[in-house]
Amino acid sequence: MKVGFIGLGVMGKPMAGHLIDAGLEVSVYNRTPAKAQDLLTRGATGAASIAEVGKASEVVITMLPDSPDVEAVLFAEEGLVSSLPPGALVIDCSTISPESAARIGAQLAEAGMQFVDAPVSGGEVGAVAGKLAIMMGGESEAVTRAQQVLSVFASAMAHVGPAGSGQLVKAANQMLVAGNIALVGEAISLLQRTEVDIPSALEVLNGGLAASRVLEVKGPAMLERNFTPGFRLDLHYKDLRIALAAAEQAGLAVPLTGLTTQLVQALRAAGDGGEDHGALIKAIERLSGVVLPEAGGTA
Ligand code: NAD
Repeated sequence: MKVGFIGLGVMGKPMAGHLIDAGLEVSVYNRTPAKAQDLLTRGATGAASIAEVGKASEVVITMLPDSPDVEAVLFAEEGLVSSLPPGALVIDCSTISPESAARIGAQLAEAGMQFVDAPVSGGEVGAVAGKLAIMMGGESEAVTRAQQVLSVFASAMAHVGPAGSGQLVKAANQMLVAGNIALVGEAISLLQRTEVDIPSALEVLNGGLAASRVLEVKGPAMLERNFTPGFRLDLHYKDLRIALAAAEQAGLAVPLTGLTTQLVQALRAAGDGGEDHGALIKAIERLSGVVLPEAGGTA
């Protein structure tokens, strides 16, 4: 199968790498060409433009920052839609707004193509391990076709509804992750002001009802003060705004998500938006005037 991949960042690069390892014919394009180099030495074909990926592919995966990026890659004059063959399948693994995903699905159907929104969860660790949870929205036939490709780097997949539905489930995912990180930050901040042995505390917490992947992965990073992304706070802010907009549309108040969004915004305003979302602990600490040095040396 000929698969194109556009967007070779923190997530896209390891995902494309798994497709190569699975023996698929993969052509890749990234705005910053240097990011594709490693994949080319592993057997991918480097495309000089988005249209070149389209011409070489039956299926294309996009893994881009936000809705405008995905829409530009698809619908620009020299974009994917102008170059893909009829009947092609576009799978968008980025996290974008559900409205944008639904609109893209309708526009691609009009152009005689299939679309699946397939946002992922599992972070860089999951992408590197090939163990991502993937929530898919689209027509059944398109989703079945997408699953054949996505299964290469999936630990769990679910078809959750029509185009845009995958993004709604991803919004719920991001509410859960952000809230959980904020609480892990609060709990660790508290423990750090006591005499308890914190690594032992985290181990026992991870054996009970408080256990979570967030506690397991972000807890040690917070203790090490390692906030190298990973998943940037700026991207999580984008996702929380998508969740708040979806809740507003549903006529629902989501106060904890609102509060967590404000904590993320405080960090962005302080210039920390490029750090990993584990840096949420700093927002908690700053409320009480606690300033600890980071792994690299700065507070
Ligand atoms: P990233 O910024 O590391 O990667 C995005 C890549 O897209 C970059 O390499 C950039 O050069 C490229 N790009 C941007 N615009 C482009 C264009 N017009 N044409 C070609 N390439 C373009 O971001 P990421 O962390 O890999 O995240 C990608 C998406 O996945 C986002 O929507 C994010 O919210 C989502 N996501 C990220 C994580 C994570 O842990 N990092 C986890 C799950 C989902």
